Amino acid sequence: MPEPTSTPSAVEAEPWYGARIVPDGPWTRRAACRAPDVDPEWFTTDEDAAGADELIAKAKQVCRGCPVRLWCRIHADETGEYGVYAAETHSERVRRQRAWHQAAADADAAEQVSA
Ligand code: SF4
Repeated sequence: MPEPTSTPSAVEAEPWYGARIVPDGPWTRRAACRAPDVDPEWFTTDEDAAGADELIAKAKQVCRGCPVRLWCRIHADETGEYGVYAAETHSERVRRQRAWHQAAADADAAEQVSA
């Protein structure tokens, strides 16, 4: 295998580069929600508002076909911004993160008991 001739750029080395640091990073150029027929309101509607379920379902449908869904999920996890990101509502994201943190705490506690 030939040796690389140059150091890869940050974008080449880490495809999610920009997802953590810049809210409007390079990955957002490929976002399916930027299509002209997609209404941004589907993603930002108040989850408790009348008719929100229908709008959120439309947003999630767009996300399911999005090529940058993973980067979007990282961005949403790190920023905590309100709205549908990577086919998750804010409430769903908060529940998932709490479950992950609880699982990590449980694993740490079990490790300390066994040590
Ligand atoms: S996953 Fe959804 S919210 Fe995120 S960039 Fe793609 S279409 Fe937009």
